[in-house]
Amino acid sequence: MAEHLTIEHANFAQMGPVAHTGTRNMSVHCVIFQVGDRVILLDTGFGTKEMDNPNDLIGADALFKLGIMVDRRLTALERLKAKGIDADQVTDIVLTHLDNDHAGGLHDFPNAMVHVSKEELSAYDSTRPRGPYKPYQISHLTKFKSYEASGEKWFGLEARSLRLSDDLEMKLIPLPGHTMGHCGVAYREEGKWSLHAGDAYFDHKVNFLNPAPGLPIEIAFQTSSTDRQASIKKLQLLKAEQGAEIDIYCTHDQYDFDRWTSGRGRPDPISSSILLY
Ligand SMILES: [Zn+2]
Repeated sequence: MAEHLTIEHANFAQMGPVAHTGTRNMSVHCVIFQVGDRVILLDTGFGTKEMDNPNDLIGADALFKLGIMVDRRLTALERLKAKGIDADQVTDIVLTHLDNDHAGGLHDFPNAMVHVSKEELSAYDSTRPRGPYKPYQISHLTKFKSYEASGEKWFGLEARSLRLSDDLEMKLIPLPGHTMGHCGVAYREEGKWSLHAGDAYFDHKVNFLNPAPGLPIEIAFQTSSTDRQASIKKLQLLKAEQGAEIDIYCTHDQYDFDRWTSGRGRPDPISSSILLY
C-alpha cells in the first residue's frame, strides 16, 4: 500500500550577499521527504558540529567570504527535532555533492545511508580538489552508497535511479564541474518533476542568459570550467524545451528558495527572520 509522502523545503544554513549574484542572500536550499515514519533528506547543509565550532570546522576565510550565518537552529537536526522527528528516523540522505555546506550535517544522522555519485565519492576519497574528508566526517565513509553510469536517460540527460521507496521516484542527474561528481536530484511530486540542480548554477537570471556570464563564485569554486559550462548548457536546454514540465531550482539562489516557500504559502520562518537586507 502506498505510504503518505510529504515534501518540505528548508534552508539548513544561510549565507550572506555575494558579489555579482542577483540575490540579496544565498540560501542553502534542502528538501525533507517524509514517507510514513521515514525521513529522506536532500542535502544536509552544515551540521551542529560546524555551528558549534565554526572557526575550526568552517574556517574564518569561508565564514567571512560567504557570509555564513552561525545559527544552530538552522541545522537539519534542530529543524527535524522542532517537528518532533528523531535523528534515527532519517534513513537516507541524498547528496548533490560533498562540499560541507551540503554534506556537513552527515554526522548528525549516523544511521542514514548516504547516496552520492561514484565520481564524487572517489574524488573525495583522494587528495583531489576539495578533498579529503575532514576527520570528524570520516565515520560516514562506511555508510555511503554510490551510483555509476548505467545508460539510463531522463529527458535526454544521463540519469541514475535511486530506489529508496516505492512512493518516491528519484534520480541523480550528473551535472559536473562545480565538483567532479556533482549531480542534480530529480524527483516527482504529485506527478510533476522537479530538479534540484545543487550548485550547477547560482543565479536564476544570469545563468540562463545566452551566453551566460561566468559568476565569480562559480569560477572560484569550480573543479572544471569546461564541465561546469557544459552542465549549464544542459540546464538551459532542459528549461527551454521542458520548462513547463520540470521545475528547476538550485541551492543558493534565494529567489528560487523564496519561490518554493513563501511563494507557495509555506514560508520558512527561521530563515526569513535572519535574512540580511
Ligand atoms: Zn554550495
